[in-house]
Amino acid sequence: MKVSYEFYPPKDLDYKKVVNEFSLINRYKPSFISITYGAMGSSQEKSIGLIKAFKEKTNVDIVPHLTLVGKSKSDLIKIIDRFKSLSVNKIVALRGDSGECKFQAHPDGFNNTSDFVKFLTESNLEVFVSAYPESHPDSESFDFDLKLLKEKTFAGSNQCISQFCFSMRDYKKLIDQISKRKIENNLTAGIMPIYNINNLCNMAKRCGIHVPAEIVEQFSDDQAQNEQAAINICIKQIKDLQNMGINNFHFYTLNQSSLLLKIFDEISLTN
Ligand code: FAD
Repeated sequence: MKVSYEFYPPKDLDYKKVVNEFSLINRYKPSFISITYGAMGSSQEKSIGLIKAFKEKTNVDIVPHLTLVGKSKSDLIKIIDRFKSLSVNKIVALRGDSGECKFQAHPDGFNNTSDFVKFLTESNLEVFVSAYPESHPDSESFDFDLKLLKEKTFAGSNQCISQFCFSMRDYKKLIDQISKRKIENNLTAGIMPIYNINNLCNMAKRCGIHVPAEIVEQFSDDQAQNEQAAINICIKQIKDLQNMGINNFHFYTLNQSSLLLKIFDEISLTN
């Protein structure tokens, strides 16, 4: 089993604290660390700050996310050049969201993620993209999401990270369709440990993700019980996905290490 982690730039700019959290789970030899990016540019400097802080402390590959929404090609080139000056050579390429409004391409930008992927691969960057076990909230159909994944793959990406998902049936459908449609892209499962059930349900609602009642029912006011439920749910999900042939797991850390340490400890992940 290979692991990787997602961190986000902290609002309080305490990058050191985030890197310290990472250092507690570094011993599980992550393949890479991804750093999120505020779609409308709000946290660009913070993302750069966090990348620099990680680069000072670790040799693990840092893979920033980059969203194309609201940016011209020259804006994106400037950001990519800054990434390259920090020895970044891999990027998670995303469309990004325009808040409440429907996505509109920038007049001097990219129309869609696959055009952006093509540009990035031609700029000698290795590109990761997203995949959606449950349809993207803007999507007309699951089929359409797969068509886009195929286009992003054709444009030069061979690694994708899934949105988090608690339905193994949906994961199975995605895995089967990737294989059936001969989409040559290696799927890494995005795993969201349940740090707080209410926050998770709110986030899931915004992303169009279903949190099954049998998961919600396991949480109460008892913190110790909640933590054990979160550990059990996460481990079951990992095992189910391993049974479907998945070996790469990307953990949405929410900048915290303690729950992950307990999960890795229980599955006896070697370090
Ligand atoms: P795509 O895969 O290109 O498409 C997703 C959906 O967009 C489609 O299903 C469709 O509904 C619509 N769409 C795309 N092209 C068309 C078209 N031509 N016509 C009609 N509809 C179309 N967001 C951030 O802001 N910052 C981040 O750091 C970040 N990290 C993420 C990491 C992961 C692993 C994932 C899964 C998502 C992340 N997101 C992030 C969210 C992402 O930016 C949004 O979900 C965005 O709306 C979709 O971007 P995409 O590149 O995945 O889209």
